[in-house]
Amino acid sequence: MSHAIDFGELKQRVSIERAAGLLGIKLTKNGPQLRGPCPLCKAGGDRAFVITPAKGLYYCFGACGKGGDAITMAANHAHSVAIHTMHYNFVRIRQTLRCTPAKAAGVTTTLWELAEMVKALEACEASKDA
Ligand SMILES: [Zn+2]
Repeated sequence: MSHAIDFGELKQRVSIERAAGLLGIKLTKNGPQLRGPCPLCKAGGDRAFVITPAKGLYYCFGACGKGGDAITMAANHAHSVAIHTMHYNFVRIRQTLRCTPAKAAGVTTTLWELAEMVKALEACEASKDA
């Protein structure tokens, strides 16, 4: 028995509107589309992030310009959450801890700069391509 995910079946069973709802993306209905601020690049306004349910597609007209189907939307959302979490734990000093949560927990001994975080992410991506 295969445990691989059947993404075709998943897209048929979970509509892009439902996927957006499960990801906590708040949008308002505007004719045949759903619109709102982009959850990835935070571009504001009610026209930045648009879902067209009939096509099962989304697109950001803001800074990130990301678009695709429900699977792509969920993957981009997961990447966004991972980057935010890394920044929160390794780069941002918490006033109550007087250092980063990662340093307080002994995960790292140094305060990371944003440039170091970007370099680590790029190295990780490059190792996947190799
Ligand atoms: Zn965007």
